[in-house]
Amino acid sequence: MAQGVVFDIQTYSLHDGPGIRTLVFLKGCPLSCIWCQNPESQRHYPEVLLYSERCAGCGQCLPACPNQAVQIFEGKSHTRRHLCGGCGKCVEVCLNEARVMAGRTMSAEQVFQEVIKDEIFYKNSGGGVTLSGGEPLAQPEFSAAILQLCKQAGVHTAIETTGMVDWDTFKKVLKYTDLVLYDLKHMNSAAHRRCTGVPNELILENVKRIHNELHIPIIARIPVVPGYNADPHNIEATATFIAAELGLDTKVNILAYHRLGEGKYSRLEKDGQVVNITPPGAEEMSKLQKIMEAAGLTVTIGG
Ligand code: SF4
Ligand code: SF4
Repeated sequence: MAQGVVFDIQTYSLHDGPGIRTLVFLKGCPLSCIWCQNPESQRHYPEVLLYSERCAGCGQCLPACPNQAVQIFEGKSHTRRHLCGGCGKCVEVCLNEARVMAGRTMSAEQVFQEVIKDEIFYKNSGGGVTLSGGEPLAQPEFSAAILQLCKQAGVHTAIETTGMVDWDTFKKVLKYTDLVLYDLKHMNSAAHRRCTGVPNELILENVKRIHNELHIPIIARIPVVPGYNADPHNIEATATFIAAELGLDTKVNILAYHRLGEGKYSRLEKDGQVVNITPPGAEEMSKLQKIMEAAGLTVTIGG
């Protein structure tokens, strides 16, 4: 049975697809978005999160580490990340819960058993399971196995994806997918690369193929990040692409950048990577919504 690395499972969600849903967050992502709000999802392997404010500096984690990755500096524990193998031994000995693992290896069957516990809620609400991340396509066999088990049990399946994967791999997961929540971050490929580390050609090609060849419903999701992709010109170009290539039945969610993920960078001891982005206000979101609606699309703020 396929195995993979999961960093969170959230139940009773009213976001990321219809009805009441269980969200399964998988680790690993081929993008590195400047504004990433789940930096603990980017790497493919389990990582230690350090809650420094809980650390008493007792030093129990030092001898526990087989790689000499832990140091005490100015009364607090730190991790030399390049030495850390993610074994979790320091987490086991920390009584203050200052060290917490992000990511655990699970089998597809174990994930399915978690998902199916809420079957009654899915039936009553039209909900189901959504695989998110990170990027579910970064663990394609694992994602396909989870979705296959869910579909066999009659559970509605969705994936939230960046679409950055070769088509043959994508199809193996889409075979068991009822709905695709597809991120579109920038229409200009050079700007897309500056924001995310990768160009957008494959992403745009894949979403067209999902629509034209597989006819799976798509919800286009646009993160609105001032200073990066929120200018009216890009939003208008995104609307034009969706209307022309995916059709006016494709619903659109525009998602305002928020700052909730910023604290996570210090948990990963990556302070230097936080960028200073001011979230868009309600008025700006409404203006962008109207720009997209002018193309004939149905656009929701949030989703
Ligand atoms: S991380 Fe935990 S075990 Fe390590 S020094 Fe801090 S409180 Fe002690
Ligand atoms: S997870 Fe393992 S290797 Fe990494 S700091 Fe903790 S004990 Fe050391």
